[in-house]
Formats: sequence, structure tokens, C-alpha cells
Amino acid sequence: MSAEREARIQETAREIFALTRPPKQSLFSSERWQGEMMDWAMSDERLKVEMLRFVDVFPTLRSRREIARHLREYFAREGVASPKVLRWGVNLAAQRSPVAPLASTLIRSQMKGFAQRFIVGRDAADAMGALRGLRREGMGFTLDVLGEASVSEAEAAAYQRTYLDLIDGLAEEGRSWPAVPVVDDSAWGPLPRVNLSLKITSLYSQIDPVDFDGSVVAVKDRLRPIMRRAMADGAALTLDLEQFRYRDLTFEVFTSLLDEEEFRAYDDAGAVVQAYLRDADDDLERLLVWARDRGRRFHLRLVKGAYWDYETVIAAQEGWPVPVFTHKPDTDAMYETLAETMLRHPEHVRPAFASHNVRSLAAALVTARELGLADNAFEVQALHGMGEPLKHAIIAMGLRLREYAPVGELIPGMAYLVRRLLENTANDSFLRQTFVEGAAVDELVQAPATSADFGREPARRPVVAATDPEAPAPFANQPHADFSRREDRDAYNAALAAVRGRLGRHYPLVIGGRETGTAKRLTSVNPAKPVEVIGTVAYGGRAEAEAAVAAAQAARAAWRDTPARERAGVLFRAAALMRQEVLELSALMTLEAGKTRREANGDADEAIDFLEYYGREMLRLDKSRRMGSVPGEHNVYFYQPRGVALVIAPWNFPLAILTGMTSAALVAGNPVIVKPAGPTPVIAAEMVRILTEAGAPPGTVNFLPSPGGEVGDFLVRHAGVDLIAFTGSMEVGLGIISHSAQNPSPESVKKVVAEMGGKNAVIVDTDADLDVAVAEVVLSAFHYAGQKCSAASRVIVLEAAYDDFVRRLVEATRSLRVGPPEVPGTRVGPVITAEAKAKIEGYIEQGKKEARLAATVEPPEGGWPDNGFYVAPHVFVEVAPDAIIAQEEIFGPVVAVIKARDMDEALVIANGVKYALTGGLISRSPAAIQRARREFRVGNLYINRGVTGALVERQPFGGFKMSGIGSKAGGPDYLLQFLEPRVITENTMRRGFAPPDELLEE
Ligand SMILES: Cc1cc2nc3c(=O)[nH]c(=O)nc-3n(C[C@H](O)[C@H](O)[C@H](O)COP(=O)(O)OP(=O)(O)OC[C@H]3O[C@@H](n4cnc5c(N)ncnc54)[C@H](O)[C@@H]3O)c2cc1C
Repeated sequence: MSAEREARIQETAREIFALTRPPKQSLFSSERWQGEMMDWAMSDERLKVEMLRFVDVFPTLRSRREIARHLREYFAREGVASPKVLRWGVNLAAQRSPVAPLASTLIRSQMKGFAQRFIVGRDAADAMGALRGLRREGMGFTLDVLGEASVSEAEAAAYQRTYLDLIDGLAEEGRSWPAVPVVDDSAWGPLPRVNLSLKITSLYSQIDPVDFDGSVVAVKDRLRPIMRRAMADGAALTLDLEQFRYRDLTFEVFTSLLDEEEFRAYDDAGAVVQAYLRDADDDLERLLVWARDRGRRFHLRLVKGAYWDYETVIAAQEGWPVPVFTHKPDTDAMYETLAETMLRHPEHVRPAFASHNVRSLAAALVTARELGLADNAFEVQALHGMGEPLKHAIIAMGLRLREYAPVGELIPGMAYLVRRLLENTANDSFLRQTFVEGAAVDELVQAPATSADFGREPARRPVVAATDPEAPAPFANQPHADFSRREDRDAYNAALAAVRGRLGRHYPLVIGGRETGTAKRLTSVNPAKPVEVIGTVAYGGRAEAEAAVAAAQAARAAWRDTPARERAGVLFRAAALMRQEVLELSALMTLEAGKTRREANGDADEAIDFLEYYGREMLRLDKSRRMGSVPGEHNVYFYQPRGVALVIAPWNFPLAILTGMTSAALVAGNPVIVKPAGPTPVIAAEMVRILTEAGAPPGTVNFLPSPGGEVGDFLVRHAGVDLIAFTGSMEVGLGIISHSAQNPSPESVKKVVAEMGGKNAVIVDTDADLDVAVAEVVLSAFHYAGQKCSAASRVIVLEAAYDDFVRRLVEATRSLRVGPPEVPGTRVGPVITAEAKAKIEGYIEQGKKEARLAATVEPPEGGWPDNGFYVAPHVFVEVAPDAIIAQEEIFGPVVAVIKARDMDEALVIANGVKYALTGGLISRSPAAIQRARREFRVGNLYINRGVTGALVERQPFGGFKMSGIGSKAGGPDYLLQFLEPRVITENTMRRGFAPPDELLEE
């Protein structure tokens, strides 16, 4: 950039500053208390968190008592530096004194006022006065109905109706408004007086980038009538841009809808580009190419982006590259670059610069003038309730200013409100730096300095070579496929096609490293289409079982004496091989186990995690430990393997759990006999192949599919088996424990690691965020058709939230798509076998006798496709805590909703089953959360999230009571179960001479 241009930008920025009207009293508000709240939030990070959390929970607080309780729990806690006046208010509200109601009324009205700062009205009628007021002040508006991410189709349809009504009402009203030329006229002609903004996630409850095409179609179906009416009534309509995962979807909806014949002449549709995205320039280019190809004009709002915190957190959690810049000046620089590109294309783009940053706006303004554009060839946009002094300046300069004006109730608006608070209080915020910290104008007008990685997207999932056992990097979870990216969606489709192309192959047994055929064969089928054969496998009978034990015994000594580094190396190489094939392994599980794309991919990734994690764990445990420090005595503590391991695996995580148990046994030095689950032998055969290719010596991994319990029972009792790792039902698990104890091998009492069932509950508190509660319960109860031992099968809802929760859960359940798992829009696939289906249906009949069936999904006309083993999700309500469907593990998509008076009763009910595997609490009460930590006694307790999807290392998984007797899988104690500790003590003193400690070997 030339020095003159930079000088002009700074000059213009100074001009804008000179025209700003200093804020009264406190920074953003005319009302002192509210301004002070913001000041407090900025003075202390912990207080800010508590304040944001209080604002978030506030609309759900139904009584004075509830307000007082939450105030106390948030602000009267140790470590929260609440200002005196706030503590005083908290105490007052909590007292039984006559002034207590007054105190909570005051807080209620302040909170309302606070929300009103950012929200123009409860609905269009309520907002009308404010909108007229804006025009009187010389401002336009774009109206947005608060709400995003609908949880059910009923909610999405209601959102659509609101928009349709809104356009009608406003268009009518708008005609009577006096003209405001600066707002209503532009360089290209008159502008619509009615201008709306809309979030597409509100229009379709099942929106998901994994189902890209289906989501686009569904959103367009809901959007089409809105756009039609906007066009007919001469209103403008912009599609807001939300989280990165919806970016491509939003652009696709925008461009493909406008490509439809009826919208060819609609020039008042608008899109948004977010400058904080590293590839934002590609977004703009994409839109320009589209417009150029079709000779179109469209409105384009340039923003920096409102989800910065969210994007960085999600990327860290998922192990994905961060899609946004992490250096604020990079975002600012991108903003200036994009502003220029937009302004260079007035034949296509009607630019809107949405920002409260004086420097960013000045850059756009100078560019426009340099390009010879009139001041009404673009507009400035700002948010309602923010940057008031700046708005004054923009109007004073005669520029067109449009306010983003949200309408709606507090609860659906909370996500918006919290984003605004975050934005106002962020350290990097221009508004904060300007109006709170009073940074010098000279500093504020400086050009953004780009950092070295400006615009460069960090490499995605680098191809990682096998972990080096000599120097392993710290463990990190395998990142899941990112289905918001086209390349991952396409790769999954290609993997499905490749796997389908090789269906029907035969897989022999593997015993002692040799492939062995058998006369009998087992057939594995697709549960969504039982005529489709996945493959056949050889059938191991008693003779083969005997041979497998012999082979494992033969390999035992050599494998035990193989250095742990080499054993870990096998796991690391297997992990590398699995990484190369991860999508094909996932696709195979879609076909063989009926897993939807995300579920299948999660399963394969978890298998890789187990290999990487247990490999590292063995290296850790291999270091023998010196015990004691007495001279003349040398004590070492170390581990040895237990012997031959039998792995009996379930079909519900046919790769992850199988790989976890097998690799743990193997790396600990135990040869393994792998007995896969009857319905999923082909994916098991793939695991055995991979371990073999990775260098597991002959006899250390023996593959012995054999359906039913007979051969399993024979092996459990077999004298040559020392260790059994089992995951499955409680009945079978208890049988294994009992039979193995009665049949010790000559050399050892058999060790059993048994992960069994669950009857997991989610408690929904009175103050729960029901958006979270409903979405997470649906996910935990119905994904993979509820066939996870961790699945939610009871929901215990506190009385005050019960009706709202049930109403929304019912609608959300009805919105689920049941069907073939390979179809990207499917949320609930089939159950695993015809027998499983019959068993679950038996429980459903039982439920109808015991409770009220509130929701299910009806099969399509003509029945479920392809004779698949489908069971639709079922929600039973008014279930008694001791009902059979509330006590027994069902292993299907059936959930029992139970009402509880209060948290005391909820916890009694939650703990009142024989299992203790997972549990969940959805609550925003710090006290309730603390209490659940203490009293909700399950192996894995999840707070404010779903109860499934444990990750290796981050959420080591497993329960107690009748849920199992193992230490947590994917955790630091797991491998110990496959090892025995030994101690060797040597007297090092000879004739009164003891060598110094440091000369002794480990
Ligand atoms: C009319 C209007 C409509 C809007 N519509 C949308 C929309 O559809 N979608 C949307 O996402 N947002 C939208 N926004 C919100 C907008 O993204 C934020 O208000 C805006 O980012 C704040 O930027 P600023 O220039 O006002 O302030 P500044 O203080 O200059 O910039 C703050 C912004 O910088 C970015 N940032 C902060 N920290 C970092 C960092 N460490 N590294 C890199 N970047 C960082 C973030 O985007 C942050 O919001 C809209 C805003 C307005 C005014």
C-alpha cells in the first residue's frame, strides 16, 4: 500500500473519530448499572465468566427463589471477585426480608434492560416503534428474528411462518413511512425499506454438512416461500453466515436458490463473507465468479465474524486446523483486502461494511472514493446497541448506515446476546480498546500488520508416519473426518463405493499365522439390507479353538520376551495402516454394522487412538521402578504379561472395542485369540490383517470367528487361556466370570476384564438449557439406534422443566430420519439383527403397558426399505422409576422419561438401577453440578453434554456395579489388567561391601 493511501486512511479514521459523540456515563450505555456490569466483566476474567453464565441462564429462571439461588451460586462463591454492590444485591435477594422481592425485581428489570440494549423488540409489532425511531435518526435497519439451530421441524416451520408474517406486516407498514433519502436511495436506485436477515440453521432442524445435498434441498424448501414473498413485497433478504461448518452450505443455498428461474430478477438477496476465515478471499472469489457467470447483482455484507471463540475451541477439540486467523490484525488486514475487491466490482456487488472498527471502515471508505464511487454506492452496518458514538459519526458524514436489529424473546436470543457480550468485552475488541481503555487514536488508526502465516491455511491432517517407539510424540486423538469439507464427503462416498466393490469375499481363520479354511462358513450381511452379503468367514469350531490355544501358547514365551518397544512398534505401525485406510474401514462399518457416517468414522478413529495410546502406555509401564532406598539392597518392580488372552468382542463398536482389547493384550505381551462378534466378523478380519501386516508374529493374533456361545464357553473354560477380555451383556459377562473362576488354568487363576451393560440416565434440571438438553438426549439415546452401552435410556426431568422438555423432545424425535445408514441424511439406522429387533420390540410392547408412548417415527408407506432391521425411536413418558423399561438394558432406540420432584429425588432415581456406567446432568446451577459430581455415582458422568462418545485418554471409559469389573478403557490403569507385577530383591552387600546406589542396574 502506498504511503499516501495509508495517510489518507488514517486521516479519514481521525475524521470519523472527531465526529464520534463520547459515550455518556459509562461506555456503551446510558444506564449506569448496565454500563457498570460491563465494566465489572472486563475487570476480572472469572467474574466475566460468571456474568456471562448468569445472563445465559437468566431467562429460564422461573421464580424469585430461583433468581436468588443462582445469584448466590454464581457471585457469592469463593474466588469470584464480585464487587461489593453486587454482593450486597445477592445477599439482599437471598434474604427472607420484605425487600428481597424488590431486589430480584430490580435484577429482573436490569436484565431485561440489558437485553433490550441489543434486541429491538419481542416481535415485529413490538419493534415497530424502534424501527421508525431508527429511520427518524437517519438509519436503516435489517431485521433478524432471533433463534438459531432449531431442534425440531415444528420449530423450524414456526420460524419460517414468523418470517412470512414479518415480511407482510413490515411491507404494509413500510409503505407509510416517510422517505429518508440517505437510507432509501443508492447509487443503483431506490433501496427496499424492508430489509431482513436470516440464519439458515433455524429453517431445518436436521441440517448437517454430512448431508450436504439433503440439507441444501430442505433449507431451500423452507426458504423459497420466504424469498418469494420478499421479492413480491420488494424486501431485501440476507442470509447471515454462521459457524464455519455451515459456510459452504449457506453459499450453496444462496447461489442455487437464486439460480432458480423465479429468482433470476431478484437483486436484493444478500450474502455475508467473514474476513476472519483464512480462506475468506476464496469465498469472495466464488461469489464473484457466480455473479459474473450469470450477470447478477447481489448485496454482500463484509463482517469479521462472530464465532471466533467457538471456532478456535471446536478446532482444538476436534484436532482440526483452525479455520480462522488467530492473530487479530490478520483478520483486520483481510477485511481491508476484501473491502477493496468488493468495491472493484460494483457491477455485481452492493457492498455493506459491517464493523464498529473505525480503521476498518476508514479503509473501505477511502478505497471507495479512490475508485471514484459515490458515497451511496455502499453502506455501513452496525449492530443495535453497539458502537453508538460511531453511528453518530457515520450519519454525520452523510453515509448510509443500517442497524442490524434483532427481534425475539430472550430464550431463543440468548446465543446472540452472549456473542454480543463476548464481543464487547474481548481484549482485542476495537470498541473495548477505544471506549473503555481509551487507547490513543494514533494507535487505533494504524494499519494492521499481517503475520507470517497470513492467508495460509495450516496443513490439514498431515500424513503421519508410524509413531517411533524410541521417541513417541505425546498422544493426540485421531481427528475425525470433517464433513463440512467437500473433500471429506467425497472421500467417504468413494470409500463406500470401493468397499461395496469388494463385498462378498471370504475370510479364513488365522491360526498360528496360517490361514485356515473350514467346511462351515458364516455369512455377514448388511443389517439395512439383509440380502446384501458383506462377506463370509470361516467357522471356528472346537478343533480350531484348540488349535488356536496351542498356537498362542507356542508363541507365548517369545512374545513375552520381545522388548516392549518392539511390541509397541507393532501397534504404532497398525495405527499408521489404519490411518491410511480409515475411511474404507469406516465405510465397511456403515455396511456391516449399520453405522451412519459419523458413527462409523468415530469408531475407526477410536481404534487408531487405542493403538497409539496403549503403545505409549506400554512404553511407560515397561520402565522398571526402583523401590526403597536402603543401602545394600536392590529392589525392582516391573510387569510381566499374564499369558494367553481370549478377546470376546461386541458388534456395536466392531473395530474400536475389538482393537482396544486386542491391542492392550498384545502390547502387554500376551498372545491373543480374537473371537469377533457374530454379526461383524469382516471388520474384525480387517483388524487381524492390519495387525499382521504391522508385524505381529505368527501365533500372537489368532482369528477365530465362531457364532453363539458354544466355542466361547469352551475357550473360557480352557486350561490354556489365562486372561479373558470381554465386552458385552451383563448375563454373558457374569457367566464368563463364574466359569473362568471354576476352571483355572494350571498356572493361573484366570483374569477377567468384563465391560458390561448400562441403564444410563440424563438428569434435566429446572434451569437446563433445553436446546442442549433436547439435542444431547436425542444424540445419546437414538444415534446408532441406541445400541451403545453408554446410550441414554432414561431421562429424569425436574418437574418445572418437564412439560417444556417433553414437548420439545417429542417434536425433535419425530423429526429424525430413520433409514439406510449410508444415506447421508439418516440419523437412525437399523438395529443389528432380526433377533435384536424382536427383543427391542418386546420392550416397546412392555413400555406401552407401563407408560405412555409420546413419540415415535412412522415407517414410510410400504414399510422400511429393503427389509432392513429397523426399529424407530420411541419416547415413553410418565414412566415410573421401577418400570421394566426404566430398569432393564434395552439396547435400542427407546427412551423412558421420568418426572422428579426435585434434585434429591432425581438423584435417587438416577442411582436406582443395578448399573453404573454413564450418566448426564444438564444444569446451569453450580451447586447442582457440584452435587452431581459427588452423588451421581456412575463410571462416566457428563455435564451439559451427551453421554456417549467417550474419547481415548480424554474420557477413559467404563463403569462399576453391574456395568463391569474392568478398569477404564483408554485410561492409565487399563493396561495393568493385562500384566502382573513382580518384584526382585537382591542383597548387594558382599563381605560388608555394598556398591553405591548409582552403580546398580535398574
Ligand atoms: C450488521 C452486522 C451484521 C453482522 N452479521 C454477521 C454474520 O452474518 N455473521 C457473523 O459471523 N458475524 C456477523 N456480524 C458480527 C460481526 O462479525 C462482529 O460484530 C464483528 O466481528 C466485530 O468486528 P468489528 O470490526 O466491529 O470489531 P473489531 O474489534 O475490530 O474486531 C473484532 C473481531 O475480530 C476478530 N478477532 C478477534 N480476535 C481475533 C484473533 N485473535 N485473531 C483473529 N481474529 C480475531 C473476530 O471476528 C472479532 O469479532 C455482523 C455485524 C454487524 C455489524
